[in-house]
Amino acid sequence: MKRVLIAEDETAIREFEVINLKRAGYDVVDAESGKKALECFERYNGDFDLAVLDIMLPEVDGLTVCKELRSKSSTLGIILLTAKTQEMDKISGLMLGADDYITKPFSPSELVARVDALYRRVALNLMRTENNFKEEIKFDEVVLNLRNRALKKRGKIIELTQVEFQIMEYFFSNPGTVLSRTQILHHAWGDSYQGEEKIVDVNIRRLRMKVEDNPSVPQHIITVWGLGYKWEN
Ligand code: CA
Repeated sequence: MKRVLIAEDETAIREFEVINLKRAGYDVVDAESGKKALECFERYNGDFDLAVLDIMLPEVDGLTVCKELRSKSSTLGIILLTAKTQEMDKISGLMLGADDYITKPFSPSELVARVDALYRRVALNLMRTENNFKEEIKFDEVVLNLRNRALKKRGKIIELTQVEFQIMEYFFSNPGTVLSRTQILHHAWGDSYQGEEKIVDVNIRRLRMKVEDNPSVPQHIITVWGLGYKWEN
């Protein structure tokens, strides 16, 4: 379950955030002050993926909450909400460990898109941690370097786009498992991506040209008819 902590003192905005993030599939915990947000974080033993913090909060302000949460967790994704007039606060916020900020007023789609994008980065980081801090994942002659995001085949570096890298990382984290086009799309492009699944096929074709000895007879990136694709060693 992906869980987000919201800190916002204005009831209307808080409810707007809660409704839209719940609708987008998040488990939402909301607090109406900075102090309460910190209490919630403790109550859930820090089990949050993301926090969306308004900067202007009574008692403890959002920047202080941001700094506190960042000191407790390096993996938590933090988004700050700022007013247009708070340019300096944006910079302070990023210095204090926020990952992103949204300027008020914002639309539901902007909120969800930004939260989804950050969640993807957080989840990817966690997956890397679960890979036992491995810097490289190796299958046979193909090595994926997670730190510099490079792929090597028989020692030769193959340049990957961001999306191609994410697809390869997804394959390498699930070797031998069939991954549907929808899963690959959500993983590499994000849950909120509205485009067609055909884009997955296009990227798979490109990856095959980079990875396979003979792209028309793939040995690694295998099509599973009617289901999707899988990585074979
Ligand atoms: Ca406020």
